[in-house]
Amino acid sequence: MDSVIKVYETLSPEETLEVGRELGRTSLAGQVYALVGDLGVGKTVFTKGFAEGLGIEEAVNSPTFTILQIYDEGRIPLYHFDVYRIEEPEEMEEIGFDEYIEGDGVCLIEWAGRIADLLPDNTIVIRIEKDLNKGLDYRKISVGRPV
Ligand code: ADP
Ligand code: MG
Repeated sequence: MDSVIKVYETLSPEETLEVGRELGRTSLAGQVYALVGDLGVGKTVFTKGFAEGLGIEEAVNSPTFTILQIYDEGRIPLYHFDVYRIEEPEEMEEIGFDEYIEGDGVCLIEWAGRIADLLPDNTIVIRIEKDLNKGLDYRKISVGRPV
């Protein structure tokens, strides 16, 4: 389990966008956000809001086939990773992961559990979960630290 700092509950994609916007507005260069949760839970929806919060107007999509998508037009650069297809940690080295996490922008990593060993200690974990007892569109978004 992560140590949880804050929990949001949303009932629509729009509400998850708003949580993303709130965190995007206050994010700092050098921060790493690990997005954790099953397929279709809302990691990309959250990222779209986060990008808006940074002032990015360009459409954000899941970068599943590219691993990394860079958005430069906001307050600080957004490095949007989707590491679903990463099989060896070396692949992250090859794309220069170390430089991005120590860089001038903020990293948001979908499927970050796949590269857990590579994440810095100060990573902020965004765990998104469904609870079907609370409806199809319910999401619990926990913000915390990895342990
Ligand atoms: P992931 O990137 O985690 O695979 P996506 O963000 O691409 O997932 O998709 C999430 C899907 O769930 C979208 O179709 C979205 O409309 C839907 N959805 C329904 N309720 C919510 C909610 N509360 N928050 C986020 N997405 C939601
Ligand atoms: Mg996605």
